[in-house]
Parts: sequence; C-alpha cells; structure tokens
Amino acid sequence: VVHLEGVHKRFGALEVLRGIDLSVAAGTVTVVLGTSGSGKSTLLRTINHLEKVDAGLVEVNGDLIGYRRTGRHLRELHEREVLRQRSRIGFVFQHFNLFPHLTVLENVVEAPVSAQKRRRAEVEVEARALLARVGLHDKAGEYPRRLSGGQQQRVAIARALALRPSLVLFDEPTSALDPELVGEVLDVIRDLAATGTTMVVVTHEIGFAREVADRVLFLHDGVVLEEGTPSEVFDRPRHDRTRAFLAKVL
Ligand code: ATP
Ligand code: MG
Repeated sequence: VVHLEGVHKRFGALEVLRGIDLSVAAGTVTVVLGTSGSGKSTLLRTINHLEKVDAGLVEVNGDLIGYRRTGRHLRELHEREVLRQRSRIGFVFQHFNLFPHLTVLENVVEAPVSAQKRRRAEVEVEARALLARVGLHDKAGEYPRRLSGGQQQRVAIARALALRPSLVLFDEPTSALDPELVGEVLDVIRDLAATGTTMVVVTHEIGFAREVADRVLFLHDGVVLEEGTPSEVFDRPRHDRTRAFLAKVL
C-alpha cells in the first residue's frame, strides 16, 4: 500500500530524513520507533504530504503523493488534488485535534461530507456505527471538552476511519494520555489491526508493538537503522543504538 523511496527532508541546516526507504503491505501494522527528534512525526507527515519531500518518492496505493509524472519530470499537484489524496489517508495525532465547537458526531461527519462530498445522512449512519465500534455510541451529542482524553482519542480514531481510508497513520496516539486511559485506546487500535486495517504507528508502547506489529523499524540519524519483525528488533537488535534505545523504553 505504502512505498517510500529515498525520501529526504531538511529543515534549514537540519537534515531530518536522509534517505528513507519503506514498504508497507496491505493489512499490516508497522510500528516506528526512534528517539525524540529523530524524525518520526516528519516521516508520517511526508506520507500524506503535510511535509513536502526534498527528494524521493512517496506512493500510496500506486498514487504518487503530491506530484504527477509528466514525461520524465515530476510536477507538483494542485492543492485541491493534494487534499483529495490526503482525504484517503487517516491521521491520528498525539493531541487528538478535535474541533472543539463541534459535537462528537459532527467531528466524525465533517471530513467525509466536506472533503469527500458524501451525503450527510449516509455519513451519519456510518459515523454512529464507528462511534459504537470505539465504544462511544452514547457520546454522539457531547462536545469534546466533556470527554476524557481516552474518549477524545477514540473519537479521533472514529473520525479518521470515517474517511474509509486505505491507510491510517498514528503519531504517538497514547503519549498524551493518563496511564489508565492508554489501554482503551490501544484496544481500539488492536481491533483495527485484527480487521486488516493498514496502519503505520509511531509509539513507544513496546508491549503493544510486540503483540500487534508485523514490522518494527527504528529511525536513527535520518535513516531506518533497524527493521524487522518484533522479535527480531526487540529480542535480537543488530545495532548498539537500538539496544540503547530499547533499554530506555522497556
Ligand atoms: P518526538 O519523539 O519528540 O515527537 P520526532 O521523532 O517526531 O520527535 P520530528 O517532530 O519529526 O521528531 O522532528 C525532527 C526534527 O526536525 C526535530 O529536530 C525538529 O525540531 C525538527 N523539525 C520538525 N518540524 C520542523 C519544522 N516545521 N521546522 C523546523 N524544524 C522542524
Ligand atoms: Mg513526534
């Protein structure tokens, strides 16, 4: 589903991504690890063109993200086409980013109606089913500020799924939550994995990664330093850097 080739990204003098190659197969879960500032968020953001790459290619479902080929050259897409591409990729942020002035139901319904031009009545039915799926069928009419962090993050997941995305990106979805609320969000993500949702998840929840990930990769110095199955990366890391990182988070 996802294919990155030689992705480079710099912010001024700081080269954050220095040649990232990554393939994510349909229906699999990829967990991304790395120290703070290693470029995990930047990597996710390049996948849906929230960050423009300096070099390299990003493909999602065979679609070149942010560009189109004209002969041997790449031309940047018009913003409206980028929005169309982005509307098929779910994104769940660390800080939920719900619309505070909209109810839970309205939060979930908004993007499919405005970005995908789907009929509101049909989207509402689907949104209620999604809210039930994340255990929040009784919160449809509430405003975000009246929900716990874990509930807000589950709304954010329902909102991402309402796009019927071919891919869902998670950027540290539990790191802003109180410890007792982490489990309810991980349970929802675990359920998505079981039903074959393709996901890339930045998280330091190693127990979760061990259980749910098909592939784990460790980002360091702008490259994928280590990549493999959970047991390859967690039990038999090949690099000292990975070992040092795991010693801290485990
Ligand atoms: P964390 O674990 O703290 O979330 P991260 O691995 O997600 O870190 P990024 O947010 O991708 O790291 O940032 C990588 C580096 O790029 C950092 O040094 C950050 O300061 C820098 N950076 C990120 N976004 C920008 C930006 N828009 N402008 C300038 N520098 C940026
Ligand atoms: Mg980050």
